[in-house]
Amino acid sequence: MLQIYNTLTREKGIFKPLKEGEVSIYACGPTVYNMPHIGNYRTFLMTDNIVRTLEYLGYRVKLSMNITDIDDKTIRDSKTAGMSLKDFTEKYTAEFFKGLDMLNIKRASEYPKATENIDGMIELTQKLMEKGLAYEKGGSVYFRISEFPGYGKLSKIDFNNIIIGASVDVDEYDKDNPRDFALLKASTPEEIERGIYYESPWGKIRPGWHIECSVMAMKSFGPTLDIHTGGVDLIFPHHENEIAQSEGATGKPFVCNWLHGEHLIVEGEKMSKSKGNIFTLPEIVGKYGGEVVRFMFLSVHYRKKLDYSDAFAENAKNNYLRLKETLDNLEFTLESSENNPYPGDEEVINTLPEIETQFREALEADFNTPKAITVLRSLSYTANRYLETGKNKQVLIRIHSLYRQLSDVLGLFTEVGKKEIPKEVLKLVEERENARKKKEWAISDALREKIRSFGYVVKDTKEGPNIQKVEDS
Ligand SMILES: [Zn+2]
Repeated sequence: MLQIYNTLTREKGIFKPLKEGEVSIYACGPTVYNMPHIGNYRTFLMTDNIVRTLEYLGYRVKLSMNITDIDDKTIRDSKTAGMSLKDFTEKYTAEFFKGLDMLNIKRASEYPKATENIDGMIELTQKLMEKGLAYEKGGSVYFRISEFPGYGKLSKIDFNNIIIGASVDVDEYDKDNPRDFALLKASTPEEIERGIYYESPWGKIRPGWHIECSVMAMKSFGPTLDIHTGGVDLIFPHHENEIAQSEGATGKPFVCNWLHGEHLIVEGEKMSKSKGNIFTLPEIVGKYGGEVVRFMFLSVHYRKKLDYSDAFAENAKNNYLRLKETLDNLEFTLESSENNPYPGDEEVINTLPEIETQFREALEADFNTPKAITVLRSLSYTANRYLETGKNKQVLIRIHSLYRQLSDVLGLFTEVGKKEIPKEVLKLVEERENARKKKEWAISDALREKIRSFGYVVKDTKEGPNIQKVEDS
């Protein structure tokens, strides 16, 4: 049974979707004004792991993730870049998707854009107005927190000291002074000049940040959804405001399970511009490779801080390569194996269902990926021990298929088995084999170097040459 830690209840509970066999997930997506940093991608990967796990457990999953393509930052930085808001945000939306591919993050079912859902935001605001939960001031419309009794139930912040009616015209929350927040903002003359405005019953406006998620989540799934994900920094005020807007308008519970991913810190410190320790994804992927970064993220539970450093990444890389090598060896040995029995065949086959159970139970315990990796490691150990003595094709097929299945759930080792080795390299390997047969070691060594110059290494095994890419070996 799948157990999930819910930020709303601060407890782990048994997961039960609203519709049997189906799960609705809404995830706060990127604000497309720069390349998201690795901390953002850690949160996106957390959602990807949740989706993959639910699918593994047999659910049909629908994920909706918003693209914030209008807010203070996109408006400000598109101007600095001398670009239209649309061109500017499209550029960074493309960058965002490139990042997802680098980490082998599966595409969501839909990526609604804020600018394509303005009508819904105006409609929701009207509903809140009718219920006395919103008011207009200076052309902007604000949510009246004092009229929504459930405010604070997610973040558990004490809101007794709210200054009623005080309002402020910024997206970012001023922590010293909890106040009403903007649903729709009056357009500034500059925004109007740049064409960044929408007509509304309250004049020319553009949306606030919080309302877009309420509108798009409910458009995708109706008033109540199973799971909402995001980083811990979004609990307050963003998710608290999403609850207020949605539940204020519908009178129904908005989200059954709130899941929040912890921060990624760098060498013990929060990433910040002033410390110069903000890393973008391409930087880190350029250094270690996308799968290693994915593996590194999965090696820490999503509710724990991940303390990034070079040493940490190197260690993850070594662990990753060891697991990958086992799969490589399995695939390679499988090709040449036959159906002869070996001692220990049955013993190995008997351990496999238990390993699979452990793996499933790890993920069912609030998506415990580090534990799931430990189970994969024990399968790797079993496989390597068997490869030392046994080569029965049927046993190898069983081990390999479980290894592949568990790796797929984690989204790892996608390239193994798909290696397309260039013809030139294959020819050199053949020449080298001939040289080796004739015991022409100098020629064989020279050919090995030549093969390496193409980015491949040859490992000589009893079953013949095993060709691997340099970075994988
Ligand atoms: Zn959001």
